[in-house]
Amino acid sequence: MASQTRAQLGNIVKGSHLPHLFETTDITGQFVLLGTGTSVGVPTIGCGCSVCKSDNPRNKRTRTAAIVGLPGGNLLIDTPPELRLQLVREGIGIVHAVLFTHDHADHIFGLDDLRLFPFRLHGPVPIYCEPFVEQRIRKSFDYAFTTDLQTHPGAKPSLEIHNIGLDTFEVLGAKIRPMRLLHGPKFEVLGFRIGNVAFCTDTNEIPEKSFEVLEGVEHLILDALRYEPHPTHFHVDAALEVIQRVGPKRAYLTHCSHELDYDLTCSKLPDGVELAYDGLRLPLEL
Ligand SMILES: [Zn+2]
Ligand SMILES: [Zn+2]
Ligand SMILES: [Zn+2]
Repeated sequence: MASQTRAQLGNIVKGSHLPHLFETTDITGQFVLLGTGTSVGVPTIGCGCSVCKSDNPRNKRTRTAAIVGLPGGNLLIDTPPELRLQLVREGIGIVHAVLFTHDHADHIFGLDDLRLFPFRLHGPVPIYCEPFVEQRIRKSFDYAFTTDLQTHPGAKPSLEIHNIGLDTFEVLGAKIRPMRLLHGPKFEVLGFRIGNVAFCTDTNEIPEKSFEVLEGVEHLILDALRYEPHPTHFHVDAALEVIQRVGPKRAYLTHCSHELDYDLTCSKLPDGVELAYDGLRLPLEL
């Protein structure tokens, strides 16, 4: 009797399994901003300011990342802590490769969310990063690199790391042009030019040579933390100086803190410059 009940239960459980329907939005030709917030996010824990309390969805900023729809698939830039929420929000079901700007916690600590993609790629997720970022990933996610057998498939992230530097390289059918950016006195990070778009987050100084990579860019996404200067991020006025020099068709300020109210700040910015927001999609031309 007991075994019959178990068998019946088994059938019910088996019969109730819903099919796994794979679904993903086609973002080919789009540069999608997944997150536009600073390292602590907006709203900020325990803050009662008007931006953190705001109902405006553009004042809700998850940690900074982007995903780019290239001819050969979706290229994710950085893996922030809210990665799962960001991809679900945008209806994006697959990441074909990942590119890293640098190894700060707000840019790498969602890496475990890559565990699902090897099932869909039928192989490890290709990762493109500088050697120091690889070292941090290997330290922070040591369980992903142990050789012991997994208890089940997908128990840990399956990654295939490729080191990059400042040389142009190709991934998913597109040319990626890295550029050096300085992120305070101790840190060097990478910005990326992909076709008509440049993504330059976590920086407060752009070396001369990198301006060559930015020449003729149409859409410039640039770090601007707040109004006051900061030791490792551009503030609004410094970002505006860079934008004036580069002269893009449009510029979008990202990695913003709760000091920048979306409507109020946008109303004060010059023509062609706006605050970025989570979910903003830009037309990509390679
Ligand atoms: Zn950051
Ligand atoms: Zn606040
Ligand atoms: Zn950083």
